[in-house]
Amino acid sequence: STSLMLFTRDLRVRDNPALAAACRADRTVPLFVFDDALLDGPFAAPNRVRFLLDALADLRESLRGRGGDLVMRRGDPVTEVARLARETGATELFLADERSAYARRRLAGLEELDLKVTACPGITVVPPGDLTPSGGDHYRVFTPYWRAWEASRWRPAAATPRAVRLPPGLTAGPLPDLTALTAGTPSPDLAEGGETAGRRRLARWLRDDAADYDEVHDDLAADRTSRLSPYLKFGCVSPREAAEAGPTGFRRQLAWRDFHHQVAAAFPDLPRADYRPRGRRWNHDEDAFAAWCEGLTGVPIVDAGMRQLQREGFMHNRARLVTASFLTRDLGIDWRRGLGHFNDWLADGDIADNAGNWQWVAGTGNSTRPDQVMNPLRQASRYDPSGAYVRRHLPELADLEGRTAHHPWTLPPDRRGALAYPPPILDLD
Ligand code: FAD
Repeated sequence: STSLMLFTRDLRVRDNPALAAACRADRTVPLFVFDDALLDGPFAAPNRVRFLLDALADLRESLRGRGGDLVMRRGDPVTEVARLARETGATELFLADERSAYARRRLAGLEELDLKVTACPGITVVPPGDLTPSGGDHYRVFTPYWRAWEASRWRPAAATPRAVRLPPGLTAGPLPDLTALTAGTPSPDLAEGGETAGRRRLARWLRDDAADYDEVHDDLAADRTSRLSPYLKFGCVSPREAAEAGPTGFRRQLAWRDFHHQVAAAFPDLPRADYRPRGRRWNHDEDAFAAWCEGLTGVPIVDAGMRQLQREGFMHNRARLVTASFLTRDLGIDWRRGLGHFNDWLADGDIADNAGNWQWVAGTGNSTRPDQVMNPLRQASRYDPSGAYVRRHLPELADLEGRTAHHPWTLPPDRRGALAYPPPILDLD
């Protein structure tokens, strides 16, 4: 028998249940389709496309090392799967089970083909919908979800295929280059994508940083979180494997990820509509929004986060909280605009995680304290006490000592005037 393995956002050979199942057939066709519908939309940000191409090159190497290859096509995934099934005589299709509205439409299209379709777990630790509160369709609040998540039994690890046997006469096709897929330039300090890079990062983080994660994960300058998020976004690292290896505080973060995915599955409008409407009116201040995007608000802790985002395609979680709170609570600008900007830059940009977190900060989401507002200066002194994070990302302030970097407006006028840095766009007192 011949099977098709459609890779989507599960770009790994290890602990990949769909791939393991597909490789049980006599012949297997590993396939990735550059989906025109996705490439035309906001999903195709240069940072994510760059990361994706790295991941595909690495995956192709791994499959070739096992005697296989990665077939690449461009177009509509349903059409391409149908075509390849005809060409190879495949009778079965395996792919990762994904619950976004888009993925569900894609699955429905695939299920209409003359193929036996199996959607396998693997994108989250616990699949959305596996845990439900009594009398409800999904958990709305994190803590009870986390308790159920910790107590649940996870699927066993999937075997890494030793050999991938292709049907004869298959042409895999070249890996396209970046400019064929997206306009724009990736961030200069973007991480390298792929399973090899992701596993290396996980191993190094477990060795050097995992033990005191609880104490250091909020320290902006220490920068000691795992930075696995883009690898998890593209499935270069198995979330189940990461959760099994990491300490409790880290597992809790992975449970947040699963939590947002189960909310998004139950409430597909999460990226657009308020999860809990609060009836707030938003300000339409284009200048303030532009200043926030560029990291020129004059509030160093906010600007440092926004510059890190452009430079690395990544931002520390604490900085995401501070910048998102500043946009929605201090500037009063709609969280959907902030989400759009994050989505343009984040290598880990993910609809469920991005929207779930933005709504949480804006007070329209799952927070049990929706009226809580973060004071940027207090956050700065607590999570960047030495000012080192701000100095690292704002070269204009690199010469300011200690905490002065957090409030350059308190400098004597001559020193203040010599800085090529704007005054704060609003009065923080
Ligand atoms: P670690 O601290 O090492 O955590 C391990 C993993 O847990 C992360 O890689 C991530 O997969 C998961 N995780 C941690 N915190 C969260 C969280 N709050 N929600 C969901 N998953 C979490 N994360 C994304 O992956 N994609 C996004 O688009 C995204 N948008 C965000 C937007 C805002 C406004 C905020 C406040 C947070 C957002 N996050 C998003 C969550 C979080 O900031 C990142 O996952 C985290 O900073 C990634 O760094 P890390 O891998 O070093 O995290």
